[in-house]
Amino acid sequence: MKADYIWLNGEMVPFEQATIPFLSPTIHYGLGAFEGIRCYETSAGAAVFRLSEHLQRLLDSALIFGIRNFRYTLEELREATFETIRANGFSSCYIRPLIYLDGPLGLNLDSSEPKVGIATWEWGTYLGEEALENGVHMMISSFTRHHINASMTKAKICGNYANSVLAKTLALRSGYDEAIMLDSLGYVSECSGENLFVVRAAEICTPPRATILEGITRDSVTTLARDSGYVVTEDLISRDQLYIADELFVCGTAAEVTPIRAIDHRTIGIGQRGPVTQVLQQAFFKTVNGEGERSAEWLEYVYE
Ligand code: PMP
Repeated sequence: MKADYIWLNGEMVPFEQATIPFLSPTIHYGLGAFEGIRCYETSAGAAVFRLSEHLQRLLDSALIFGIRNFRYTLEELREATFETIRANGFSSCYIRPLIYLDGPLGLNLDSSEPKVGIATWEWGTYLGEEALENGVHMMISSFTRHHINASMTKAKICGNYANSVLAKTLALRSGYDEAIMLDSLGYVSECSGENLFVVRAAEICTPPRATILEGITRDSVTTLARDSGYVVTEDLISRDQLYIADELFVCGTAAEVTPIRAIDHRTIGIGQRGPVTQVLQQAFFKTVNGEGERSAEWLEYVYE
């Protein structure tokens, strides 16, 4: 269902009127920063998963990019997020805050004023309901993930996503569901919008933080896995280590926890969701639905 309102710079604006100018530098050069957040339905009402961490990452993205004079605090953005969900009456939704630039077209961040909007919409599973059980077929992309000194990989800067779009579009046009990208040295990095985990001999491994976006779902899954007694390490991972994994899964706000059944036409493990992935997927959904041991710590309730 479409939202009625988008929050724009302190005001609740009707959906159709929430527009930005054609000559906005954000549209032409990708000069902006955004977040992707989910709000889940729980027995105590709508709750946003790790909202404060997401908003901190939004502020960090702006800082990394070099945006100055952004005038909203985390607490103000948090309240604005709740207001937007309430105004639209959603019990569960996806939340998209965007810092954009208002000013003349050009490559100088300092000639524009940073502004912010928050949109919400109802959204189901990203890679398909069926994929949560049966898994997805991934392609190792021929597009390299950002070099860490070309684009800032810790920031969700709008323009960074051209790299993700190259990889994702090629994967879909080639008949795959998603793309895994390698870093500039050839090690496994991340997907177009997800982090990746490898399970082998009951140990769980994920690429180190240096070249990836530090996913909040990645952190949540790592914590839930450790809570369940699994060993989780961060290590360099090669392409062929993926091929011989017992289980692989991706995670992200959009994709939640989705198993990988094949990569480059090679079946991974049993060719569907493996047992460790299932345990972690269940723990994740229990948590976001308000019934996990970490729920109280990670859910921020909209109606309190
Ligand atoms: N990597 C990239 C490139 C992403 O865009 C995302 C989505 N934000 C992720 C990983 C997963 O991050 P999170 O779990 O915080 O959504």
